[in-house]
Amino acid sequence: MAPRTDIFDLARLRLSAGEGRRLELGVALGEYDFGNERYATDPALVPVTLDISRMTHAGYALRLRFEAAVTGPCMRCLERAAPVVVVDAREVDQEGGGEELSSPYVEGELLDLAVWARDAYALGLPGQVLCREDCAGLCPVCAVDLNEAGPEHLHESSPDPRWAKLRELKLD
Ligand SMILES: [Zn+2]
Ligand SMILES: [Zn+2]
Repeated sequence: MAPRTDIFDLARLRLSAGEGRRLELGVALGEYDFGNERYATDPALVPVTLDISRMTHAGYALRLRFEAAVTGPCMRCLERAAPVVVVDAREVDQEGGGEELSSPYVEGELLDLAVWARDAYALGLPGQVLCREDCAGLCPVCAVDLNEAGPEHLHESSPDPRWAKLRELKLD
């Protein structure tokens, strides 16, 4: 397992212009607050692939790739959810290159890998953390898990969905 890296010193690679290097590192992403719940990543120490290219004019082109599951309660049924988030992020940092060519994660030749990875992962998070995409959630009346109870789970008081369909038709 690659050792945990927070800050990576790009200068120590001593790359000359046009040269590149691929590194396998480990990053701890920490936890994410999401809809009043805390979510962790699995694994906690995520193996990442970092591609570093030294550009012709002083500067770096960087690519960061990794995947990790975001784990915590499903936002619909509260069972354990662990959807995998895949990250493929790029940054360019060129000295005097102006705002567009200046990465917020590079200070001098120090790359803040931990913060970059954390931000990139946050951008890749799904809108909702679900145990599976079509999770049926909990019954709004009795809170039974509808994934187990099935679509035939109904209450006396709940209107027959067929009548709802008929009412829609009448409105048209
Ligand atoms: Zn669920
Ligand atoms: Zn119910």
